[in-house]
Amino acid sequence: MQLIDGKALAKRMREEIAADVAALRAERGVVPGLAVVLVGEDPASVSYVTAKERACAEAGMRSVEVRLPESVAEDKLVAEIARLNADPEVDGVLVQLPLPKGIDTKRVIEAISPEKDVDGFTPVNIGRMMIGDKCFLPCTPHGIVKLIEFAGMDLKGRHVVVIGRSNIVGRPLSVLLSMKGVDATVTLCHTATRDVAAFTRTADAVVVAAGRPGTLTGDMLRKGAVVIDVGVNRVRDATSARGYRLVGDADFESCSRVASAITPVPGGVGPMTITMLLWNTLASARRRAK
Ligand code: NAP
Repeated sequence: MQLIDGKALAKRMREEIAADVAALRAERGVVPGLAVVLVGEDPASVSYVTAKERACAEAGMRSVEVRLPESVAEDKLVAEIARLNADPEVDGVLVQLPLPKGIDTKRVIEAISPEKDVDGFTPVNIGRMMIGDKCFLPCTPHGIVKLIEFAGMDLKGRHVVVIGRSNIVGRPLSVLLSMKGVDATVTLCHTATRDVAAFTRTADAVVVAAGRPGTLTGDMLRKGAVVIDVGVNRVRDATSARGYRLVGDADFESCSRVASAITPVPGGVGPMTITMLLWNTLASARRRAK
């Protein structure tokens, strides 16, 4: 059984990105800049934003921190995004989600210029992705496709079951996997799917992004299937100093007995998401250098 090492791939890709950033700076005087907007002080959001800013710095990019109080008016937030859209030294703008209650997330995301939408969340970029145009691809699904390539799996003509249809993971991933070039046959399962196991048992690969531990178990898999576990869940663990540990959506123990390859949690899909964010920010800065 192969453990698909997302940490190793992310490290390699981040080193390549850092080398490209250094070359862009030396040859064209351009330093890629990423603006990270955080509203409020939700501890999980603060830690995600800190990780993104740290990764930016490690890659030699400039990060612009925009911190706004939870009480910020929606118009002020939208105006802040307009300011970042217009800043020539900012190549990427991201707004950390979720936003506090009372703020219209759709309006805020749509305020981001599609040319700086390095999260790939705006309707314009999602539309471009759907028709196969050049665009910023959403980071987690794009990272998963890279991870599958890295594991040496050719998905052409293979059956991939995706569990979960969220706008940030499952649904865009099902589009990317069925694109020409990747060529998988995709089944998208959700809570109204009558018998998820009937689909997963015929799958060459299963991607689980449900946000619930134990959604995928070994008895739901065909022998030799590949498992990509996107879930990040905290479960209580008195033996850990933090009082909890992180687990995915797949039951690692039973799945790893049947699967030919599996991503661990942590250390699988997780490190790829920020890596693809850096990748998109570099791509955006390259356009500025032209
Ligand atoms: P989400 O918005 O809550 O969506 C979950 C999806 O899973 C929904 O479409 C839901 O179906 C479906 N679902 C839930 N339980 C199911 C079940 N038992 N059988 C079939 N379908 C089921 O979650 P998300 O934002 O996509 O995130 C999913 C997980 O990935 C979370 O644990 C999240 O923390 C993690 N995540 C990780 C990364 C990373 O970088 N590693 C990035 C993003 C998310 P319905 O639509 O019918 O409700």
